[in-house]
Amino acid sequence: MDLPTRNLEAIVLRVGELGEADRLVTLCGREGGKVRAVARGARRPRSRLAGALQPLSHVRCLLAHTRSLDIITQVELVDSFPSVRQDLTRLTYAEHFLELVDTVAREEETESGLFALLLSGLHLLASGFDPELASRAFELRLLAVAGFELALRNCASCGSVPASPEPRFSPAHGGVLCPSCSTGGAVAVSPGVLGAMLYLKEATPRHLGRLVICERDRREMEGLLRACLVYHLDRPLRALKFLDTLRRART
Ligand SMILES: [Zn+2]
Repeated sequence: MDLPTRNLEAIVLRVGELGEADRLVTLCGREGGKVRAVARGARRPRSRLAGALQPLSHVRCLLAHTRSLDIITQVELVDSFPSVRQDLTRLTYAEHFLELVDTVAREEETESGLFALLLSGLHLLASGFDPELASRAFELRLLAVAGFELALRNCASCGSVPASPEPRFSPAHGGVLCPSCSTGGAVAVSPGVLGAMLYLKEATPRHLGRLVICERDRREMEGLLRACLVYHLDRPLRALKFLDTLRRART
């Protein structure tokens, strides 16, 4: 009996083992959100599927629909992002992107924008753009797609424009707070960091390179966004922890 099939363009998020010789592949599809499918025989030495089905790869698959998991019957590699794989820092940021998408993507979602966001983030990393700023832009946009868009212009609580020269920022409220809404959990944020976050969230990829930001502001922005990701996604940030280790080893 022929199984119904469909084409799916996707990015491979994760590859695990299944049974004796198969792999369980988690994909972020252009359609359908997160898709889990079986690559039969992909752990055998001469498997035609194994080479293309690596985490990070942009692929086009043919999926056969079954009552349990779909089966990947054919796969074509669109881009394996070699320039990202060859650089440990870029590769770790790419793993951070995959981790975040894996956390927020849902199965059987119609159109979330996650595939487009992930693909453009990976292209930005592959282009040689500053990987740290690429990551901050990705995190800001991912929070928005996941329903936790940060309020960076108006107070996250009452919506007024905070006129304070010393704005406060609250990861739990998801953005800046005006003086009257400011609570114990809010921290000081420099106006330059707020401006940089707005730019990274809204500028087109072509214009992102215009941003100039000092080391102190980079560290402040990194701390704020990490706090937001941990608070709203409630998951440890494994790839970023590894980046901390890399950074310490280099200084
Ligand atoms: Zn307020």
